[in-house]
Amino acid sequence: MAQDLRSFLDLIKRRKPEEFQIVSKEVDPAYELTALVVKLEREGRRRPVLLFERVKGSKFPVLTNLHASRSRLAAAMGAAPEETQRAYLRAMEKPIAPKVVRTGPVKEVVLTGDRVDLGALPQILHHEGDAGAYVTAAISFAKDPTADVWNCAYNRLQIKGRDTTSIHLTTGKHLWEFHRIAEARGVPLPVALVVGVHPAIALGALAIGSIDEDERAIMGALLGEPLELVPCETSDILVPAHAELVIEAEILPHERTAEGPFGEFTGYSLGERQREVVKVKAITHRRDAIFQDITVAHLDHLLLSTIPIEANLYRAIRAMVPSVKAVRVPGPFTCYVSLEQRVPGQAKNAILAALGADLYVKRVVVVDEDVDVFDDRQVTWAIATRCQPDRDITVITNARGSDLDPSTREDGYTAKWGVDATAKPSLAAYTPRHRVPPAVWQRINLKDFLP
Ligand code: MN
Repeated sequence: MAQDLRSFLDLIKRRKPEEFQIVSKEVDPAYELTALVVKLEREGRRRPVLLFERVKGSKFPVLTNLHASRSRLAAAMGAAPEETQRAYLRAMEKPIAPKVVRTGPVKEVVLTGDRVDLGALPQILHHEGDAGAYVTAAISFAKDPTADVWNCAYNRLQIKGRDTTSIHLTTGKHLWEFHRIAEARGVPLPVALVVGVHPAIALGALAIGSIDEDERAIMGALLGEPLELVPCETSDILVPAHAELVIEAEILPHERTAEGPFGEFTGYSLGERQREVVKVKAITHRRDAIFQDITVAHLDHLLLSTIPIEANLYRAIRAMVPSVKAVRVPGPFTCYVSLEQRVPGQAKNAILAALGADLYVKRVVVVDEDVDVFDDRQVTWAIATRCQPDRDITVITNARGSDLDPSTREDGYTAKWGVDATAKPSLAAYTPRHRVPPAVWQRINLKDFLP
């Protein structure tokens, strides 16, 4: 599989031309991109990939909404839409190590020193109240300063000047941990921020697992071949050779700057906070680079992250409860699980596994296998009719969760809860669900009665 963004765009143009839309009219990067994506979805029921050829104030065309369709994301993994989770789990189980190549198209233009200018990039404002222009599609590539352990993640960047941004490091996660190690030694953490990649690389960057699981190898497994990497110009960080654009930088020790407000996936615009500072050393890009934007907090963002989260939760719950049937993340901080409970207590184990497997999970609801977790009404019905709150709700206090959850008293310091909505003592022994006798159901033909 080709591992660049362009060949994936060609695939879409070939297979589903209606899903690729070029906008030639000039757009203002202040709010117009988000407005167009969201309006198209709400009023036109369409979620095409959008390529804006002329963006006011920048020579770079902007691509957005790439991930806003489950079938496009499946195609990125070479899978059918209904095989999405299985394809992702297979990649987690059988990662393919990356390989270093001599050079690649991302080096066609190399800008260092005075030629570095983040102001040349599209200055995209997404939502009203955002503190400034944000880069939302940057994938960080970084290395543990003390070990040969690599990490990739999405981190939002607020552009602060020619060579400066702030960065949001999710407290307690891997890049945050690397930065704390570097900071304790008083040294900056080299990082590369990669913009414009094949969506298999985007999906791999969001893999959730142990800190020593290499997201770059999951990217390779999703691509079906080793991810090709080239060294940065200003550090020993390795970056995808076929990317559109790379910002080479350092996260400074002991420096913080005001960041936010910024409208996030939670549906809220969390206020200003003090966050880490990024100093840019170089920018490299393709000669005719496409600048990628993720329409933050909408489907382009939410669908992309759901697939890796659900796969990891399924993996973690299955390690405890082999008869787990399905896992769904229907909204922020929430996980629904269906399982065939063979012995009492397995629902509780599923709750503990899910809460322990993902920092962001705050509420887990477990239902029996006759309930479809992809139907909110069925889950609500199971909670209403199979759950006694004094017996079936577990509350965990003072745990670490998302630092973007506005309901916590202190950013990220949160309670978590599990709702066991399975029938007790078992589904088989529970009050039966009513139904028309099967013989009658079979016999009745609508046409005989309602011609
Ligand atoms: Mn990681």
